[in-house]
Amino acid sequence: MWKVCNMSSLTVREALQRASSFLSEIEDGSFLAELIIRHVLGWTRTDFFMRIDERLTVEQWTEIEQLTRKRQAGIPLQYLIGEQEFYGLPFKVDASVLIPRPDTEILVEQVLKLRDPEKPSVVADIGTGSGAIAVTLATHSVWRLYAVDIAADSLRLAEENSRINDVADRITFLRGDLLTPLPEKVDILVSNPPYIPSRDIEQLDVQVRNHEPLRALDGGLDGLDFYRRLCAGISEAVKPGGLIAFEVGMGQARQVEQLLLDTGCIEQTLVVCDLAGIERVVIGTKV
Ligand code: GLN
Repeated sequence: MWKVCNMSSLTVREALQRASSFLSEIEDGSFLAELIIRHVLGWTRTDFFMRIDERLTVEQWTEIEQLTRKRQAGIPLQYLIGEQEFYGLPFKVDASVLIPRPDTEILVEQVLKLRDPEKPSVVADIGTGSGAIAVTLATHSVWRLYAVDIAADSLRLAEENSRINDVADRITFLRGDLLTPLPEKVDILVSNPPYIPSRDIEQLDVQVRNHEPLRALDGGLDGLDFYRRLCAGISEAVKPGGLIAFEVGMGQARQVEQLLLDTGCIEQTLVVCDLAGIERVVIGTKV
């Protein structure tokens, strides 16, 4: 597709132009092109602007071209470069986990606001995936955490992320179904479970639908399966006075709030919006 006779003579600027034009049909195509080039060269944004007239080697351009083609074919950039920042922290990601989203930062922020990070507490993150929630909470507190996931490959990645962020000593990784592997009652229960109604999966962006793991997205017929199952276990799993915090999908907040109230052991609820004004986090306090 790109006919370049002497590829080694391409400058970074020219590579950016080529890659951007190839990605022009994708939103933020030129920014994606910049990220791919910086990833291959190991450059910061400042390096990128200062050194934009430097020449690439053939190998560098070949790698940039390959990544650009894969991105153009719909593979999310985060899987291609293997990383995503969350709450200002570095996380490794691969196709076994959902890419951490900015929405989830609201969930983490609320938990850190509502409970004293300096007070020793036991926390569970159910469906930890990349470990984004558990690792971030650990880096901002003295808490001891359990990170639970059904998938062994996700847990391996989450554990690696806990090491990268220096909090491995306070997180125990448990494989199993939702609350079942927890060995003790917790002070704080957090979860961003799969919440997309099964019939809506087809309408998701191709990047998400074809590349992110279905098990991390599909929340059953109405998207609320996991909240129902989590709510059924709250009285057993959470200490009196404990906090429960869920991320929810668009339009689900009031139903999830009701599921919490229906347990009969939740006395106070709170719904928090994300930056787009969508009700995104539902919180309850256990009696
Ligand atoms: N807990 C992880 C996150 O928030 C994974 C969530 C999921 O897979 N549904 O990114």
